[in-house]
Formats: sequence, C-alpha cells, structure tokens
Amino acid sequence: MPQIIDGKAISAQIKDELKEKVAALKQEGTSLCLAVIQVGNDPASSVYVGNKKKACAYIGIESLSYELDESTTQEELLNLIKELNKRQDVNGILVQLPLPGHIDEDLVIRTIDPSKDVDGFHPQSVGTLCIGQKGFVSCTPAGIIQLLKRSGIEIAGKECVIIGRSNIVGKPMALLLLRENGTVTVAHSKTANLKDVAKRADILVVAVGKPKMITRDYVKEGAVVIDVGIHRNENNKLCGDVDYDDVAPICSAITPVPGGVGPMTIAMLMNNCVESAALNR
Ligand code: NDP
Repeated sequence: MPQIIDGKAISAQIKDELKEKVAALKQEGTSLCLAVIQVGNDPASSVYVGNKKKACAYIGIESLSYELDESTTQEELLNLIKELNKRQDVNGILVQLPLPGHIDEDLVIRTIDPSKDVDGFHPQSVGTLCIGQKGFVSCTPAGIIQLLKRSGIEIAGKECVIIGRSNIVGKPMALLLLRENGTVTVAHSKTANLKDVAKRADILVVAVGKPKMITRDYVKEGAVVIDVGIHRNENNKLCGDVDYDDVAPICSAITPVPGGVGPMTIAMLMNNCVESAALNR
C-alpha cells in the first residue's frame, strides 16, 4: 500500500508552529492583520474566505473582512486596495478570486503592494521566485513542497513532471521543484504523448482541472503522486484530477482528495502572513 500523504495533519502541524511564532511576535510588539476582500457572494468563494478567517483566528492573526457587493466598480476596489496598502497595521491583503467579469483581475493583483502580497500572485512575487530571491510564493505549490518535505520525500535529482501550467499552480510549482533541485518537466494540453511524459515522473504533480483524468496509464510504478484538483461529483462527493482508486495501488505515495493538497493552501497563506509581519517589522 502507498504512503498516504496526510495534508490535514501536516497543515495542522504548520498552523500550530505558526501560532507559536505569532505569540512570540506579539510579545515583541508586532501585530498581525490580514485584510480579506470578497466581491460578490459566490458560494465557493464564501467558503474559502470563511476558512481563511477561521485559520487567522486560530493562529492569532487579526482579520479585516470586506464583503463587497457584486456591483462594486473596479475603481472602488482599487481605491480600497490602495488605502489598505498605506495602512501600517495591515500586513497582508488578499482579494478572493475569481472576481466578477467587469473587474480586471490582473490590474487588481498588480495594485496590491508586493510587500503585502500574501497570495504570491503579484508579478514582483513571481519574478523573485523565478530568480531565486526572497518573496511571497503562491500558496498551493508552496504547500506541496511542505507536503513532500514533511513526508520524507527527497526532491533533489528526481524527475518531476507537472501536468498543468497555470500561473497559480503549474508554473510556480515548476520553479519551486527546480529550486529544490528536481529535474522538471511541465506538461499541458498541447503536450504530445502525455502518458509517456507523465510516466517518466518520480514525482508527478497533477493540476489539470479534469476530474479523475489521471489513471495508472500515466503513472510509473513507485511514483509519488500529488493531486491538486478539487471537484464535486454528481453525488456531492469530492474527487481530484487523479483516479485515486486506480492509481493508489501502484504508487509509493499519494495525496488524497479531500485531505491532501487542499488544507495546505490555507496553512501556507497563514505562513505568508506571518512572514510578511516579520519582514515588515
Ligand atoms: P487551470 O484550468 O488554470 O489550468 C489547467 C492546466 O491544465 C492548463 O495548463 C491546461 O493546459 C492543462 N490541461 C487541461 N487539460 C489538459 C489535458 N487534457 N492534458 C494536459 N493538460 C491539460 O487550473 P488551475 O491550475 O487553476 O487548477 C487545476 C486544478 O487544481 C483545478 O481542479 C482546481 O480546482 C484545483 N486547485 C486546487 C487548489 C487547492 O488548494 N487544492 C488551488 C488551486 C487550484 P493549457 O495551458 O495548454 O490550457
């Protein structure tokens, strides 16, 4: 049987470590505050925002909540961000995506002060990641590195294949695995012979956004499989991009859905908030 990588337990461990750090920072007089902005009331976004606020409360980070109406204009949103950029007491700004169609997401991301960009989406954050300098890293891929490290999985020298090249998962994942000295391949919808490419992987990270697409035909025996996908099926049950029941028996380690990558994203967001407070002291 494969090692089941327990994202719930690992994220709980990280949150407890952060709670201690926050207590120490507070003793030194450093306060921590995350501003969370949601535009509209998309139910999935509301759940994510609620979970982020809950995690803040657990760790000891104050959260400021801005629940804006769907009809909020781009200018109003940008003005709020600019105001929060200036506030000394706010160390992190998070705008929950996706935004309504009339708002330019890229412009919104670019308006956040890079020193408060706890989601790691600002071009400056992406640039520092690319050239190996200090900066905020996109939370989901950063969480995957923690999952691997804390599960005792060596990355250096390993063939790492990522399926998916999005700006928030695939690309930063590639840069992080490279930073950890993996040999990295990024596959996408135009990749020829995807099964053969995926089968080269010692570590296969799947972020395609297609329920259960990855079967054992894509997986080398003994590979580590990280499933980033989250989908709800017709019975309201969660599943990933990987067909878990088919793949698990042939791999050495695998993340389940739920309870794998998902919980790590919020833990790493909290980590970025703590880093932001520590950096900007
Ligand atoms: P995107 O839709 O932005 O990107 C999907 C990527 O997969 C694209 O690069 C696309 O290629 C590639 N792709 C799509 N179909 C195929 C195919 N048939 N063969 C090969 N490559 C393909 O998705 P995200 O990266 O944002 O998210 C991926 C999944 O992860 C989703 O299920 C999402 O819900 C989940 N997710 C989970 C998070 C968590 O916290 N656990 C956080 C973020 C995302 P191309 O570029 O050529 O179009």
